[in-house]
Amino acid sequence: MDGTQVLTLGLGLQAPWKLKDQHLDTTSSPHRLELYVEADRGSLYACPECGKACPAHDFADKSWRHLNFFQHHCYLHARVPRTRCPEHGVKRVEVPWARPDSGFTLLFEQAAMSLVREMPVLAVSRQLEVTDKRLWRIVHHYVGRMLGDLDLSQVANVGVDETASRRGQRYVTVFLDMQRQQEPVIFAV
Ligand SMILES: [Zn+2]
Repeated sequence: MDGTQVLTLGLGLQAPWKLKDQHLDTTSSPHRLELYVEADRGSLYACPECGKACPAHDFADKSWRHLNFFQHHCYLHARVPRTRCPEHGVKRVEVPWARPDSGFTLLFEQAAMSLVREMPVLAVSRQLEVTDKRLWRIVHHYVGRMLGDLDLSQVANVGVDETASRRGQRYVTVFLDMQRQQEPVIFAV
């Protein structure tokens, strides 16, 4: 298995998408590994509304930052079609390797989120060599989605406690469900 196969594992490259080309750009610093993904001409794509296989209406060139390849940054490029569905009209298709409107692959976002659990966002942004502003956008998306899934409809009494951690340099605020014996923590910041 070569390096590019390792990098494309887990990208969700399924028909009609496949890796067409790759090239290491040594003129930029850090060097960039460019991966080009494409679909065969005349491929059909699922309408994002109903899933019906529809022909492409037009294409737009899109790029996503992907996991580093050794010390090199890696970018994925693809021409992403809009489908023309008889029922829903012209819609941009969703690619299997990234969220709509994200400039990062899902694998990059997963790696970033697992690092953010362990260290401050600014430190992660330096390690991944991405601006902290862009990183915060990823964090807000996933945290927002997690909070949206939080069901507080059964909570009647909330307790709040603040405690210092690491010799008073950082403070943790904990919100507790006072009626729950097991795992009472609702949220901690
Ligand atoms: Zn449709």
